[in-house]
Amino acid sequence: MKQRVLSGVRSTGNLHLGNYFGAIKNFLEMQENYECYFFIANLHALTTHPDPELLKKSVRATLVEYIACGLDPEKSTIYVQSDLPEISELYALLNMLAYKGELEKCTSFKEKIKKHKENINAGLLTYPVLMAADILIHRAHKVPVGKDQEQHLEMTRNFALRFNHLYGVNFFPEPEAFDMSGHLVKIPGLDGSGKMGKSESEGNAIFLREDADLIRKKVMRAKTDTGPTQPNQQKPDEIKNLFTLMNLVSKKETLQFFEDAYNNCTIRYGDFKKQLAEDIIQFTNPFKEKISALENDTKYINNIAESGAEKARVSAAKTLDAVHEIMGLKSIWK
Ligand code: AMP
Repeated sequence: MKQRVLSGVRSTGNLHLGNYFGAIKNFLEMQENYECYFFIANLHALTTHPDPELLKKSVRATLVEYIACGLDPEKSTIYVQSDLPEISELYALLNMLAYKGELEKCTSFKEKIKKHKENINAGLLTYPVLMAADILIHRAHKVPVGKDQEQHLEMTRNFALRFNHLYGVNFFPEPEAFDMSGHLVKIPGLDGSGKMGKSESEGNAIFLREDADLIRKKVMRAKTDTGPTQPNQQKPDEIKNLFTLMNLVSKKETLQFFEDAYNNCTIRYGDFKKQLAEDIIQFTNPFKEKISALENDTKYINNIAESGAEKARVSAAKTLDAVHEIMGLKSIWK
């Protein structure tokens, strides 16, 4: 039997290079050999209270971008999270097994409450429980995600084990965070911060559908230092980040050329960034073309979402039915 794979992206904007290299690239490889479920996490997006029309638009954009990246509805089950009410019910049930202390200790919660002091809602606190429900609803084994999700996966395993232990069953597998390369990745942003993200500072992320001129502007504005003064000097973080991006999108010889230039202190950051911008444009061009073509094909996109939800609900209903049985929520009046 094929192992089951589950992953998703929040519909909080467009896909960026961090999403692509941290998650989507793995989806593409995994859909060849695993039973894959890929979804668009619109319930997770609700913690920040998005405008309903904008939220719908984001869901559609993410689905279009999934397909433009190469996700294949013939090979993978692709659906929108809110089309499966089973997930919300499992979330409610798993909440009974999640403790306030462990949720408050979660790094992403601590970071978010620092950033959004005015909106510390319960959905933010129980975010890892909803994520566990996303994964456990299909009893998935592998979860292709970036390094930022490692702790959430650990929490999912805790909830799964706690459920199995409390009810004396061996029902939920212990899912693992996964990357085809063997280690989870974190793609850096352009602002010198550690992570490319949709909600980081303006100019931090490069989106797959980004216009070439904007890519040039963002890369040219990326933070650099005054340059190396000693041969083979260690790179400061903001420079290391740009090299990491070049390693993803440029030819090996190009990367080597600039590595050598850095190491012998002849690097000119202007040239380095110009080359990086052009290579990012080259890399993202094919996605842009596919995105524009798919955006006009509303019928095809609607069809993928509808048939994906139908397929995913079969698996979700099976899990939820068994959970009802295990927890004593069925056959009460017999
Ligand atoms: P999000 O956009 O936060 O919903 O993330 C969707 C997926 O992309 C998750 O698997 C994340 O781990 C991954 N991801 C997001 N940003 C990055 C990044 N900068 N580096 C690596 N993976 C990322």
